[in-house]
Amino acid sequence: MSNRSEFERVVFDNKFRVLLTREQIEARTRELGKQISTDYRGKQPIVIGVLNGGFLFMADLIRHIEIDLEIDFIKLSSYGDQKVSSGRVEVLKEINAEISNRHVLVVEDIVDTGLSVKALEKKFSVSKPASLRFVALLRKTEKAKVHFDIDYVGFEIPDHFVVGYGLDYKQILRNLPAVYVME
Ligand code: 5GP
Repeated sequence: MSNRSEFERVVFDNKFRVLLTREQIEARTRELGKQISTDYRGKQPIVIGVLNGGFLFMADLIRHIEIDLEIDFIKLSSYGDQKVSSGRVEVLKEINAEISNRHVLVVEDIVDTGLSVKALEKKFSVSKPASLRFVALLRKTEKAKVHFDIDYVGFEIPDHFVVGYGLDYKQILRNLPAVYVME
């Protein structure tokens, strides 16, 4: 095993390619925040972040939303050590907020097969929110197994495994400030 951390290998080796720079992410997040501020004016939405991957995007996004809002988090099972979806979505931490009759905006890091967002829609719909929308930083366009309209998408990306900016590889590399493709 080399002395270098995975973090250093991503940043310094050619094996990893920057897909989105922190500047691109910042600029697009600002635009999304602006759009969401307009769409939700006067509504005080509950913004629900999907853990773990969505935490950085959530934190940056809400700082660009210039209206009153509340936050909560839900935690779903990740892929574990796999790079492909198992197809099963398990809730590991529930929200605490009461969402019936509230405007709910769910913040996802990435939509791959669409199974997670589909499962969340089904789950949250039971509580009859006043509205239910989804925002995802990334969407793998070619991939979706399940048809699902995401209301706000940061970037459409090709079907590659990506890491950084909240997204992990075997639970590490979430702290990379940009999004990288593992070649
Ligand atoms: P889906 O249910 O749409 O297939 O997958 C959604 C979840 O899988 C995301 O919230 C994310 O946690 C994980 N995921 C999907 N694609 C990737 C990827 O390319 N890289 C990483 N690190 N996680 C991914």
